[in-house]
Amino acid sequence: MKFWFITGSQFLYGEETLRQVEENSKIIVDGLKGLPFPVEYKLTAKTESEIEKIVKEANYDDECAGVITFCHTFSPSKMWINGLALLQKPWLHFHTQFNETIPNEEIDMDYMNLHQSAHGDREHGFIGARLRMPRSVVAGHWKSAEVQAKIADWQRAAVGAIFSKSLKIVRFGDNMREVAVTEGDKVEAQLIMGWQVNTFAVGDLVEEMNAVTEAETDALMAEYAKLYDFKEEDTEAIRYQAREEIGIEKILKREGAMAFSNTFQDLHGMKQLPGLASQHLMSKGYGFGAEGDWKTAGLTAIVKAMYPEGNTSFMEDYTYDYQHELILGSHMLEVCPSIAADRPRIEVHHLGIGGKEDPARLVFEGKAGSAKALSLIDIGGRLRLIAQDVTCEKPFQSMPNLPVARTMWKPAPSFLEGLECWIIAGGAHHTVLSYDISDRTVQDLARILGIELAVINKDTTTLSLERDLKMDDVIYARHW
Ligand code: MN
Repeated sequence: MKFWFITGSQFLYGEETLRQVEENSKIIVDGLKGLPFPVEYKLTAKTESEIEKIVKEANYDDECAGVITFCHTFSPSKMWINGLALLQKPWLHFHTQFNETIPNEEIDMDYMNLHQSAHGDREHGFIGARLRMPRSVVAGHWKSAEVQAKIADWQRAAVGAIFSKSLKIVRFGDNMREVAVTEGDKVEAQLIMGWQVNTFAVGDLVEEMNAVTEAETDALMAEYAKLYDFKEEDTEAIRYQAREEIGIEKILKREGAMAFSNTFQDLHGMKQLPGLASQHLMSKGYGFGAEGDWKTAGLTAIVKAMYPEGNTSFMEDYTYDYQHELILGSHMLEVCPSIAADRPRIEVHHLGIGGKEDPARLVFEGKAGSAKALSLIDIGGRLRLIAQDVTCEKPFQSMPNLPVARTMWKPAPSFLEGLECWIIAGGAHHTVLSYDISDRTVQDLARILGIELAVINKDTTTLSLERDLKMDDVIYARHW
């Protein structure tokens, strides 16, 4: 994916100024080489038809993940209206300036006309506001690391949003019976998020698993051995998980899907609940949701697409330690090893739920560090993304009889008020735990996708959150 850079100008200042604008724009773009995704200078726009044409090209180009605009000089905004109205890609208004300071001797009226983004970008900002278009704004000198980090945050969100728009989610079986929060309007989800959420028969998965060859299983076992420790006597159970993983991945690849859900209530013909299989698939970038939770599966896939080398997992809030003010997060089996502090072990243990054979799973402790817990819920008529700042800590107990991957964290603003906020917002017990995603990326992602965002951070109070949510009910009220 790449990003297109379009500089705004006009013919008013003459050919020499336009030549200088183009030259400077190329230097700025060259200075953005350290960003996670490449930026390509496209043109200095001077007319309505140029803008309309470049926007149409951006919309049509599958590799273009977004458009960055900057007005080096004044660029009258009426000539931008028709083009911007057609824009279907994420938009960043980069409010920068070629020079960092004002040169005392050099400055004259020609200099002022050339370096007037303080002036021209305000006209550009007005039209963005007037058109009520979702756009992100980053201000500051283009060489600044801090400024570039903000552009990087937006790039991640844009890539995540573009990924979302073509995401396919495979559901093996329905949602867990009677559970509310994992339900949702799949038509709305496709309209807003772009997700194609469809069901596939567990029996067909079993057929796919049974067709897996010994050689394919051997190859995956060799990969497991490279990444994880395990005991020789567990090999048969682990080989069964390998067959599950290969069978699931074949169906995902066939369908072009990057996320899947399953449920322990619908494993007909399968001997084990996929544990290691789902965990290793997540580490390869697939989104996952247990108990039919396709929304968390989709969100996990998006965050993984934004941070391919990152630390992101499907997660579940399980139990509390009030004394140490910590949440123990885990799942029956399925936690992604990308968040492991140390090399994970494969273990085979009894699972009290589901009535199947003892499943092989990866056991490890999550790493310490700041992270975010994300939850996407269907609040009725719209999707709400909840993002809570959390601090993960190394588990302080060995928990020898808990053979699952686990992590512990403290939510913001404080333990108890953090819990109150989460419950008030309606956040699910399933989350996406990400150590990578920043405040700005969460905000940019919600803005680009047009979904409600409820942020719970150090500044949130139960009162402020309740006010935000009531306000959102008004903002997002249906208008048809
Ligand atoms: Mn669960």
